[in-house]
Amino acid sequence: MRNQAIQIVRSRRKPPRYSFVIPVYNEEEVLPLLVERIGELFCRLDGEAEAIFVDDGSRDGSVAYLRRLLEHESRFRLIELSRNFGHQIAITAGMDAATGDAVIVMDADLQDPPEVVLDLIAKWHEGYEIVYARRIRREGETWFKRATASLFYRLMGRMTTVDIPRDVGDFRLVGRRALETFQSMPEHDRFVRGMFAWMGFKQTEVLFERPARARGETKYPFWKMLHLAVHGIVSFSDAPLRMALWGGLTISLVAMAYGVYAILAWGFEAGVIAGWTSTVVIVSFLCGVNLFMTGVVGLYVGGIYAEVKRRPLYVVSRASGFDDKRPAGEERALAGLANRRAG
Ligand code: UDP
Ligand code: MG
Repeated sequence: MRNQAIQIVRSRRKPPRYSFVIPVYNEEEVLPLLVERIGELFCRLDGEAEAIFVDDGSRDGSVAYLRRLLEHESRFRLIELSRNFGHQIAITAGMDAATGDAVIVMDADLQDPPEVVLDLIAKWHEGYEIVYARRIRREGETWFKRATASLFYRLMGRMTTVDIPRDVGDFRLVGRRALETFQSMPEHDRFVRGMFAWMGFKQTEVLFERPARARGETKYPFWKMLHLAVHGIVSFSDAPLRMALWGGLTISLVAMAYGVYAILAWGFEAGVIAGWTSTVVIVSFLCGVNLFMTGVVGLYVGGIYAEVKRRPLYVVSRASGFDDKRPAGEERALAGLANRRAG
């Protein structure tokens, strides 16, 4: 018992190891700045740190830059995905490779200021397993982006049973237990912030002001944002299905009432010929509603289809900077998959 206590104290004393996971997609303009800021941050940490860059199929000079960097920087690692798999999968690939006691996920464009990480770490030392950064202000983003994001977070809050915090992106710190839980979650539709909200543990937030992108342009055009929003809702809520059911039922009732009216009108021979406009309106409306609801069901069926194929979540074309002992390349992705299946 005493031995155990001593061991716990000892393991606490050992300086922690941090893994930074940074998804990169065509970010060559901002990378030098990012690397500089990360270097400064690493000097201020109370333990060792590694930065895992995940290249999500960039077509600019990002990979070449990172490869060159790795030649003389032993704390940096690089995972190159075989194509563009999307932000959420890139984060997953980085998390699979992370070995630290705490993992920090941050964007490459410095919209997640590295200095805030010190606050995240302070909360982690207080005993929180997951510390997420909530933005109190967003700068340099269009009113359209802010308005749609705000609408999304509010809608999400109403529709899901899991309490997904508002105005929180993927900038967060997670402890070892949360990381292992995340690694054991098999879903293909990965809405990372929702998955962390779902798993519970002691969670808290740190507030920060989100600056504008340091350089380059957003890699989240409107359709990608919409895709993320729809998949976020579909993977965490069955409210759209229930809405389809109730909406369908209500419209059927209205249609039935109209049918009764039409029969009566026919019976009393009143206004029968004048019915063309209403017929067209009603038929097209019902067809529209029908298609929409089929679409809603289709979203869920599509989700199931993606799951049953059981493909790996991503394919790694090259991994560098890791110890030789660890599997590289494609084996790494398959190992990640095996872990998930076993878990
Ligand atoms: N990103 C990625 N794959 C993608 C799109 C984006 O890895 O398909 C990365 C991107 O390089 C950045 C982060 O995800 O590090 C967030 O993207 P961005 O800053 O463009 O999104 P925004 O902040 O505008 O929502
Ligand atoms: Mg950004």
